[in-house]
Amino acid sequence: MNTFLYIIIFIMGTLFGSFYTLAVYRIPRKIDIIRTHSFCPNCNHKLGFFELIPVLSYLFLGGKCKQCKQKIRPRYFILEILSGLTFVLIAWGLKINVYHFNLEAIIRFAFIILYLVAIFLIAGIDKEYRKIEKSVLYYGIVVSCSYIIYLCIMAQTSIYRYVMYLVTLIILLILDSEKQIQEAKESYLFEVLMLIVVMLINTDMVVTVASILITLLAIGITKIIYYLKNTFNKARKEHKDRMEIYKFGYLFSLTNIILLIAELYFIY
Ligand SMILES: [Zn+2]
Repeated sequence: MNTFLYIIIFIMGTLFGSFYTLAVYRIPRKIDIIRTHSFCPNCNHKLGFFELIPVLSYLFLGGKCKQCKQKIRPRYFILEILSGLTFVLIAWGLKINVYHFNLEAIIRFAFIILYLVAIFLIAGIDKEYRKIEKSVLYYGIVVSCSYIIYLCIMAQTSIYRYVMYLVTLIILLILDSEKQIQEAKESYLFEVLMLIVVMLINTDMVVTVASILITLLAIGITKIIYYLKNTFNKARKEHKDRMEIYKFGYLFSLTNIILLIAELYFIY
């Protein structure tokens, strides 16, 4: 019975995975996520029902568009499988079980999934465009607020910390809109800070802090390696300070997902 449950959870994960790739493609291009029918970006062929099934459709079509035979990038397929595995790992980590019904674990699972939608989309879009999409961030804030309301009702934890986070978020939102009015530029720093506060609300403080520290440490190490490579290899062009082109949203999100899963297995 449990195997059956976990197969369903895996399929759910692959469906979300195919939604992430769709949303990461559409949101920055301002295409409607829900109403627009899925199509092949090469020949605009509208995808039929069987071409929309995650994982399997890729295998049946042999990784090609049915109409124009354009190759479909295998990363969609890989992402769907990874998303399915993430769902299974989280459910397993929360000890979700057919025989021991645990409402609290199921609600936590649901909130983690809602949170992961934000994190996956932020990571995907930031990786392509180095931009944290506002609409996704606002969605993350709504999820965070619902989570806080849930915690208030259940009153399991002290909500004092969460009130502080909310206040910080509101301040950042105000600063962000002010900055946009003044400079009409994208304000990446504020968006990254808001992302961190959303992380603090939805994952444990340890997970968020570790995500940031590990990412920054990794960036530091790669910088040192680059620097050493350049001093030993003078023939190469001088390495410019690449700090400003790091995709912090993408890097923090990726580390955050890995640590969120790791926490379920190694801390509890
Ligand atoms: Zn096509």
